[in-house]
Amino acid sequence: MVRVRFAPSPTGALHIGGARTALYNWLFARHHHGKFILRIEDTDRERSTIESNQAIFQGLEWLGLDWDEGPNVGGCFGPYYQTERLDIHQKHAERLVKEGKAYYCFCTAEELKQKRAAAEARKEAPRYDGHCRKLTEAEIKEKLASGTPKVVRFLLPPVGEAVVEDQIRGKVVFKNEVLDDFVILKSDGFPTYNFACVMDDHLMEITHVIRGDDHLSNTPRQILLYEAFGWPPPIFAHIPMILGKDKARLSKRHGATSVIDYSTIGYLPEAMLNYIAKLGWGHKDQEIFSRAELIELFSLEGVNKSAAVFDLDKLNWLNGQYIRQILPERLFDLCEPLLIQAYGTHDLAYMKKVVGVLHDRLVLIPDIVPLSAYFFKDDFEYDAKGVEKHFKTPHAKKILETLMDRLSKLAPFNKEQIEPVFKGLATELNVKLGIIIHPCRLALSGHLETPPMYDVVEILGKERVGQRLVKALAFI
Ligand code: GLU
Repeated sequence: MVRVRFAPSPTGALHIGGARTALYNWLFARHHHGKFILRIEDTDRERSTIESNQAIFQGLEWLGLDWDEGPNVGGCFGPYYQTERLDIHQKHAERLVKEGKAYYCFCTAEELKQKRAAAEARKEAPRYDGHCRKLTEAEIKEKLASGTPKVVRFLLPPVGEAVVEDQIRGKVVFKNEVLDDFVILKSDGFPTYNFACVMDDHLMEITHVIRGDDHLSNTPRQILLYEAFGWPPPIFAHIPMILGKDKARLSKRHGATSVIDYSTIGYLPEAMLNYIAKLGWGHKDQEIFSRAELIELFSLEGVNKSAAVFDLDKLNWLNGQYIRQILPERLFDLCEPLLIQAYGTHDLAYMKKVVGVLHDRLVLIPDIVPLSAYFFKDDFEYDAKGVEKHFKTPHAKKILETLMDRLSKLAPFNKEQIEPVFKGLATELNVKLGIIIHPCRLALSGHLETPPMYDVVEILGKERVGQRLVKALAFI
């Protein structure tokens, strides 16, 4: 049974990188009919917040990444908040001390700082010098009895190397000499990330650890801990990082980084999900994947070895594609509050028609506001180029006058009736249909481009069309 986890630290919102890690784990679990576990790594007491925790839930929920075990849903391997597992971590740290695989360190922060500075002066990488390894039983007893602050350090095996057989990166070898006796339990009794992660992954029976490759350098320490406990390590898969278009690591500078911001900006969750899936994974040259297809096709073999580049143009393109596919009712629900806010209108039937005719033109949901402005406001300006091209022609005045007259007599005022008016006039004047349509479009919308003219005329309605033609004629 595949068991994977997403283990965010609640120190900020769910950003794109985290969402991708969550998604790949979720897809892997769903593909293999396994379990997707959410574990909140909240041991950094200063930086962890309830708001961030909520933001992570919100981001995952928006993307539809449901967890089988974790906060709010429970499970047999809880608790799923790391801070509720401190007794487990402490017990296991003690076990390593008893077995001689870890030891108490009483060095003060000041002493460690001096040692670090000395190492830096020698141009050496700062490593703990093993001072407290050499303490005698009596010395340790005395310090413990007097309550001297202490940490627990892992006793690094003297020789050897830690080998990470990574599913994406291949074999990565870390010589033990680049490591040191790292802290596993801090002086406040809280575990360090590497230690808690190993405990929890093991006890939660995690089979595959899929995470960002910023954690690759932690993996040798984790493997050494698995070895010390005599536990088999999980399979590791480190996914390459995400860069901005400028090839720098994706950050706030590149725009919104939190997933939920994308919902506010007007992206659809399914477009976002598709886009995030493609950030570092692919299947042939397919661009659009349904959720079911992603589950069916996702594999770690399909994950790229090189960094992914976040391309907003591509995301926008995808969002436009997805908007085209959604049902008119859903699009309307998304647009309605924006239109009410922008134009103070409450004419539902009218708004529905407007959204319907603009459906295929939206890239982002809020595009509905500028694109539909002329449907709601009469005081628009005429496109300057359009005025030259379509109003200042010998026929323009006559065309608009005739249209005004004939359209005013139509009943019912619908596309079927409207179309012959335009076509008839073109035939009478022996001109191309465009010669009739262009000045009318400019008169009714101020723009050179709109949805099909007969739709626009019908939606605006007889009265508005009449008023706008009068206004345009006065302008010409
Ligand atoms: N809490 C760690 C993070 O958010 C988890 C890393 C891991 O998946 O092991 O980066």
